[in-house]
Amino acid sequence: MKLKFSYCFVVLLLCTCLTTYAQQKYVMVIHGGAGTILKKNMTPEKEAAYTAALTLALQKGYELIKAGKTSLDAVEAAIHVLEDSPLFNAGKGAVFTHDGRNEMDAAIMDGKTLMAGAVAGVTVIRNPISAARAVMEKSEHVMMVGPGAEAFAKQAGLTIVDPKYFFTEERWKGLQEAIKEDSVKAVLDHGSKKSMKLGTINRDYKFGTVGAVALDHMGNLAAGTSTGGMTNKKYGRVGDSPIIGAGTYANNETAGISCTGWGEFYIRNVVAHDISAMMEYKKMSVSDASKAVLDKVGKMGGDGGLIAMDRKGNVAMPFNTEGMYRGTVTAEGKIEIQIYK
Ligand code: ASP
Repeated sequence: MKLKFSYCFVVLLLCTCLTTYAQQKYVMVIHGGAGTILKKNMTPEKEAAYTAALTLALQKGYELIKAGKTSLDAVEAAIHVLEDSPLFNAGKGAVFTHDGRNEMDAAIMDGKTLMAGAVAGVTVIRNPISAARAVMEKSEHVMMVGPGAEAFAKQAGLTIVDPKYFFTEERWKGLQEAIKEDSVKAVLDHGSKKSMKLGTINRDYKFGTVGAVALDHMGNLAAGTSTGGMTNKKYGRVGDSPIIGAGTYANNETAGISCTGWGEFYIRNVVAHDISAMMEYKKMSVSDASKAVLDKVGKMGGDGGLIAMDRKGNVAMPFNTEGMYRGTVTAEGKIEIQIYK
């Protein structure tokens, strides 16, 4: 009798654990760039600052989801926080081009309608992610670049700033070092072993592009990415982040995806859409598809990572670098931040 009771108790406990585990679904996932991020190179203050910024971004997004707003609202709000922080390579904190300018790219996509908006090479829009959203919602186009995108953003009522707003000492120093090491090669702001070997890396400036994927109460996914691109990039260079299907993609049938890493590799592998396609055509899970595509990128020599979430709230956050700033929030509001492997 006693044995039977203990047996029942164990089974009950196991069932409870399994249900709790199965219910661990997420409503939002964010990243703040992947790269050579090692604990030994991090001060406790820096680590705390990153954790605080990522937490705040998730809180902002979560509050909106909880209040019944859309996943697009949550993605835009979370990315605003990261764009306004000098810690990340987006908005304030964007890296410099070879010519000493800050040229930013961003994109956003609605998984329900497959509507998308993007801006590239913008220099005076305080929050490029909002400009991307304005392109999606207030124009008949998908992508606008340079002065045209800036004029459009102004017309849409977005905050326009002096290009000096984007200046940060750290990023300026990063450019000077990159120029000294190799005047022609562009450098991922967060670096990699491979690029270090090539002598093109600056270990101290590995901060990262930002991105978010959210799932709202209506079951709709949205994804967004915002970046300053690569340190020392040439005039007019556009990375993967604003290219729909390369660095950013969302489809309710599959997943929302935001990438970070060496953009040229992500463009050539059409990474975000490839993940979606593998899920759609091969019925792969979000984590298997994400891993398979990132492996392809890695084999070609591209380094970086990505975040992805399916419509059931399953999340994947693979990266082939030493670390990736990343965080999740569950439907119950539990926030988790991770930085290292
Ligand atoms: N993917 C971005 C680009 O190539 C850079 C990054 O993610 O850090 O523009």
